[in-house]
Amino acid sequence: MLLNCIFAPMNFEDIKTVQKLLSQPQKIVIVPHKNPDGDAIGSTLGLCHFLNSLGQSAAVVAPNDFPKFLKWIPGSEGVINFEKQNIQAKEKLNEASLIFTLDFNHLGRAGQMEPLLKTLDVPFIMIDHHQSPEDYAAVMYSDVTMSSTCEMVYNFIMSLDGGQAITADIANCLYTGIMTDTGSFKYASTTAKTHQIVADLIEKGADNTKIHTQVFDTNAPSRLHILGCALKNMVILDAYATAYITLSQEELNQYDYKKGDTEGIVNYGLTLEGINFAVIFIENKEEGIIKISFRSSGDFSVNEFARTYFEGGGHKNAAGGKSDFSMEETITRFLDYVKATRKPLVKNV
Ligand code: 5GP
Ligand code: MN
Repeated sequence: MLLNCIFAPMNFEDIKTVQKLLSQPQKIVIVPHKNPDGDAIGSTLGLCHFLNSLGQSAAVVAPNDFPKFLKWIPGSEGVINFEKQNIQAKEKLNEASLIFTLDFNHLGRAGQMEPLLKTLDVPFIMIDHHQSPEDYAAVMYSDVTMSSTCEMVYNFIMSLDGGQAITADIANCLYTGIMTDTGSFKYASTTAKTHQIVADLIEKGADNTKIHTQVFDTNAPSRLHILGCALKNMVILDAYATAYITLSQEELNQYDYKKGDTEGIVNYGLTLEGINFAVIFIENKEEGIIKISFRSSGDFSVNEFARTYFEGGGHKNAAGGKSDFSMEETITRFLDYVKATRKPLVKNV
């Protein structure tokens, strides 16, 4: 048997507020961030199953579509896509008496849903592990030390209802997000508690081998072709311990890009010996932006870098942002910012 209190309980006041809200039947909408990843989809669906099991009426409304490699997650077929099912999504949101926002902490991250969310005069509950939360929620369960929002949803359920409430479906949802947000349990955010929680989720029915296969071993050829192109395009700035990759819209089209194909490619830069800052720039002609992902190992805060220079944010070692300039101009600016923020390495002679 596992330890009794493997989870980190939420604070007492927040638990009381949530219990009070859930003591009434509520129409609940749960919102992940735009371009939802494994943690966003796993946490929203895990929470949705839990709330419905309490007799509440809960649904997930996502700002836009999510990758195919997440479309097996229990309940994923019921996610309402604000972009593609706009009327149904708006109806759900306008009817809602309670909103949960998961895996993000400022409403801008909800993309096209932001203006509508701002008009809703109902309580919001935030569950999130990013830095610098915005102040919009009645309950702000925000903890940057957490590996993932899925780990927090586990804590949320345990704080409210204990382990009995966690079904195999919930366990599969939460395992997925913890796995993807920790780089398969290897990032520094992975704690002993994370492993204990994951062990508990397996005991409760998370099919760990199947989840790894579904997420990592279901590549379309386009993904591997794009990966090949990305690695060929990689530029290594030895003196600044930095590596960056560019992918133009033309290259994405050439290799038949599909949503999710570029997920995780940025991490390859960090596998180079001596490199502790890795970046990928991905052109999106439709939105007229370059979407950027930043990763670091050690002390360099990519959250600060993304926030200062590229209208973004995230975590210390994983963040994202965007640029409205052309790829060429974006790279020129990026190189200036690298020189301004990173000390060049002095090679011993
Ligand atoms: P990714 O590079 O995988 O898209 O995102 C890495 C981390 O940064 C995630 O935790 C994600 O939520 C956050 N992030 C990505 N893009 C943005 C952005 O444009 N703004 C902010 N604030 N965070 C972002
Ligand atoms: Mn997350």
